[in-house]
Amino acid sequence: MPQNQNTSMKNYDAVVAGGGVIGASIALELAETGMKVGLYDAREPGREASWASAGIISPAPENAGMIPFVPMSLASVALYPDFIRKVEDLSGMDVGYRKDGALDVVLDGDTEEELSKIIALQRGVGIKAEAVSAEEAVRMEPGLSEEIGAAIFRPDEASLDNRVFTDAVLKAAEREGVEIFAWNGAKAIWNEGGRCRGLLLEQGQAEAKWTVIAAGCFSARIGGVAPYAPVFPAKGQMIALRCESAEIERILWLEHTYLVPRNDGRIIAGSTIERVGFDHEVTAGGMKKILSEALRLVPGLERARMEEAWAGLRPDSPDHLPIIGPTDLEGLLIATGHFRSGILLTPVTARLIREWVCTGTVSVDWERVSPMRFLEARRGQWA
Ligand SMILES: Cc1cc2nc3c(=O)[nH]c(=O)nc-3n(C[C@H](O)[C@H](O)[C@H](O)COP(=O)(O)OP(=O)(O)OC[C@H]3O[C@@H](n4cnc5c(N)ncnc54)[C@H](O)[C@@H]3O)c2cc1C
Repeated sequence: MPQNQNTSMKNYDAVVAGGGVIGASIALELAETGMKVGLYDAREPGREASWASAGIISPAPENAGMIPFVPMSLASVALYPDFIRKVEDLSGMDVGYRKDGALDVVLDGDTEEELSKIIALQRGVGIKAEAVSAEEAVRMEPGLSEEIGAAIFRPDEASLDNRVFTDAVLKAAEREGVEIFAWNGAKAIWNEGGRCRGLLLEQGQAEAKWTVIAAGCFSARIGGVAPYAPVFPAKGQMIALRCESAEIERILWLEHTYLVPRNDGRIIAGSTIERVGFDHEVTAGGMKKILSEALRLVPGLERARMEEAWAGLRPDSPDHLPIIGPTDLEGLLIATGHFRSGILLTPVTARLIREWVCTGTVSVDWERVSPMRFLEARRGQWA
């Protein structure tokens, strides 16, 4: 359980700001190396984007601009089975991992040529994808609308229950000795003598050789962080449905809308992308958008019970890519900006931070996600 009591000064090898899935997995990975790790959250850990997410693990690029980023996504997918085994063993929790693949549905308007272009693009970057006729797709998922034109089947796509997963990573981190503090967020990085000495907290200070900022879309609000991580929220609304007469086995996609089956029988439907600041409200417009697309995909969901609706804030960045790695301030590392892919990228982010801290070099091509890219862009503007 997170601790609430605080002393004015704590000493660690590494201190992490943010107890979402990213901060928790980094804390776990660092603690496993024998380091003394402290994790501080401004609220109850694990109740922001990591709680709100759909939990899809999909390395498929959404557009051509995301192609250079696919190797990092695939590296994370490769790390996932071992990462889950470790987290489940340490926490004693089942994170609801399922790898039944995804059907990406296209409607009548999409030509065969467009479909084969998407498949070629996905195969070209190492993702298994195959064309499926409308009849075949409906055979695979009998709940699907017969109005669909065709589909792409990606057999390796997976998902997990992100709420359980985040709690399990936090519990696993605690088992490895991480000290977790709720309701004591970071006010600023502790910048002294040309290096980062730790965190200045709402209550007290935490001193450490390594400081990792992983506070999701709130990271830029921590004093001294914005130049490296100019992140902002991108709100997403979600609905949990239950419908005994319209069950699905696989993840179903229709452009940006998706349906994700859970082991407990719920179907998670999402989502919207809204730039409306730090706003967690569920709106009629958001629900209408998600439900109308969901019913186009699986008409039988008309009879579904709406069990829950919620909204979460994705940590977005100016180029929509994550921000992971060291900065020019000694001792300070950043791990945020994961936007729509934070669950997908959890294992590789934790691995990258551990590699930076322990060896100073990393096994994955990371320069595109360096926290220094925003500083350098600004310096370029002024030059
Ligand atoms: C609706 C929705 C659907 C999504 N679907 C998917 C999906 O299917 N697949 C996928 O890969 N990704 C998905 N994402 C994205 C993914 O959930 C996020 O990228 C990921 O959860 C980010 O994790 P995080 O730990 O960085 O941030 P968060 O989970 O937001 O955690 C940040 C933590 O920092 C804490 N904090 C805030 N301020 C401070 C402070 N000053 N000091 C210390 N702590 C602080 C917060 O309280 C919080 O606990 C989705 C996101 C949303 C919102």
